[in-house]
Amino acid sequence: MRQARDATEAANRALQRANVELARIATTDPMTGVANRRHFEQVANAARERAQRYHEPLSLLLFDVDFFKAVNDRHGRQTGDRVLIELTRRLEGALRSVDVLARWGGEEFVIIMSHCGAAQALLLPEKLRALVAEHPFAGVGTVTASFGFAEFHAGESLDQWFKRVDLAIYRAKSDGRNTVRLAA
Ligand code: GH3
Ligand code: MG
Ligand code: MG
Repeated sequence: MRQARDATEAANRALQRANVELARIATTDPMTGVANRRHFEQVANAARERAQRYHEPLSLLLFDVDFFKAVNDRHGRQTGDRVLIELTRRLEGALRSVDVLARWGGEEFVIIMSHCGAAQALLLPEKLRALVAEHPFAGVGTVTASFGFAEFHAGESLDQWFKRVDLAIYRAKSDGRNTVRLAA
């Protein structure tokens, strides 16, 4: 009887561990270990609803590594992968625990910043930009990224919000890259 109960408990514990591991795999980007796009969309939508209900400021920061194709062409794709891993590690270290960094796709990443409007939040993009640009990457040298920043407007969809931040990043690129631009 006791043996049977012990065996059941052990099986339950193994199942619980498997569930935790499955949840981790479903929500993270395997290469960099940061949140994946699907998880980001869930987090962003929940944050939008909270911000709307409690009238809290909320901001989105999107960034794209500059001339990354040239990094791959010059140093190989594996080295390019290592740059993305190192870059996410650096930035993670500078974020608050409530910020969520996610890989949007390729060499584009997004950060959702809760309780943060343009007034408080603008220091962070500049700090992150400098963290990328001011310390060389092993085997590659200087790498820079362009940043777009947009505070959430009550009532807009995730798509509309994202479109604004995308336009901001487009301006950062056309203004010479390695810079932060605010969405309209
Ligand atoms: P821009 O400054 O305009 O953003 O130039 P770019 O070269 O970064 O832009 P482009 O979109 O032309 O190229 C993006 C490159 O990023 C091409 C693609 O192969 C590379 N890339 C995307 N995902 C990965 C990845 O996971 N690993 C590596 N090594 N390269 C990747
Ligand atoms: Mg890109
Ligand atoms: Mg790029």
